Amino acid sequence: MKITLLKENQAIYLDKQTRLKKTEAMDYVICHYSEIGLKGKNRKFFEEKLVENIKRVLKPASFEFVKRISGRIIVKLSKKGMGGEEGEKGMKENLKKVFGIAYFAFATSVPQKIKNIQENALKVLENKKFKTFRIFTQRSKKEFYLTSQQVNENVGWYILKKSKIKNEKLKIKVDLEDPDVTCFIEIVEKYAFLYLEKIKGQGGLPVSVSGKVVVLLSGGIDSPVAAFFAIKRGVRAIFLHFHAYPFVSRASIEKAEKIVKILRDFQGESRIYVIPFADIQKEILMKTPAKLRMILYRRFMLRIAEEIAKKENALGVFTGESIGQVASQTLENIKVIEEAARLPIFRPLISQDKEEIIKKAREIGTFNVSILPHQDCCTRFLPSHPATRAKLEDIKKAEKKLNTARLVKTAVKNSSVKII
Ligand code: ATP
Ligand code: MG
Repeated sequence: MKITLLKENQAIYLDKQTRLKKTEAMDYVICHYSEIGLKGKNRKFFEEKLVENIKRVLKPASFEFVKRISGRIIVKLSKKGMGGEEGEKGMKENLKKVFGIAYFAFATSVPQKIKNIQENALKVLENKKFKTFRIFTQRSKKEFYLTSQQVNENVGWYILKKSKIKNEKLKIKVDLEDPDVTCFIEIVEKYAFLYLEKIKGQGGLPVSVSGKVVVLLSGGIDSPVAAFFAIKRGVRAIFLHFHAYPFVSRASIEKAEKIVKILRDFQGESRIYVIPFADIQKEILMKTPAKLRMILYRRFMLRIAEEIAKKENALGVFTGESIGQVASQTLENIKVIEEAARLPIFRPLISQDKEEIIKKAREIGTFNVSILPHQDCCTRFLPSHPATRAKLEDIKKAEKKLNTARLVKTAVKNSSVKII
């Protein structure tokens, strides 16, 4: 086999006569993940979860199978090029919601022979407008008789050979550094895949590989974003929403449920605990100093969260707190609040500005629900000057007047779970 190295800036022209009329249809989606430390048993578990999660977001009729092959997950589309009833666009949107995928591509599969790869690379490229191109091969099947570099050279050489000067305006060059278009070739197990576009995925880890947590979900802007970041790292989120119904309307409950519906796209079937908080608030209102109220509310929320976490075998609590955003989120107050619980508390938004959080909320799709009006259970009867540097001893003194254990137990008992 003759192998010709492509020279940089070599001008080539696609010969119209050699153009094949029909572009080969895309029949697979190749999903790539990239996480260091994915070794041994961990890797198999990770890949199996990823297969499961990909199947979950795709419409059943749109694919024939989803399976792992070395270092990738491949999806065989049911109708050539169409992705079945779902279409390429819908599929793209859905795959972008699967954590664990670094990037994916709609690819054309061809027989694993250099001749077929060459011919199909030309087909894939011929309907594309570009001035510069390159071929980029990944070969995980080491038995294949050509190295990745040799495939690049052979395919590039073939495209050059099939090209001739037609018209100055049609001039195309090979550019290995910054081409207009790259034809990606993957040779893996019994397959050879060709594609032109890598689509960025969500990154992160597949849902459920990291264990369970409870997420305090208020219905505001921040906590849904915190939940998103929990799910991103492979954590299964169980949602907890505290409400003051019947003293306020059910609006906050409805909002929280709508938000879970949106987050469900990322983690699949989800559970939300709706927890009555009005009795606890009433007691705090009657028996403790006004400026400590918010901190006392938060400490009760954590205690209840801890009880539910125990029942659910959850290993931590996620909140949407960010330093200094509101009075209860000063470092001093955060410290006093978290003293009420022993479970680790995770605050993925702790150093983010409100603008950054809003941007993410818009991306996720929760923002428009979060800004709907509702009466927050905790902002009722709040003093205009809440404590910003609460002292633990003052808090403990105030809590002596409350029957903490009973209030927590009753709230847990009266909570209801909904599967969304
Ligand atoms: P968010 O936008 O999430 O409401 P926030 O900036 O309004 O956050 P706070 O109201 O002080 O901040 O709440 C801090 C965190 O406490 C929230 O991010 C959430 O995790 C939790 N939280 C507050 N209220 C509730 C509630 N009613 N139910 C469940 N969790 C809550
Ligand atoms: Mg709030």
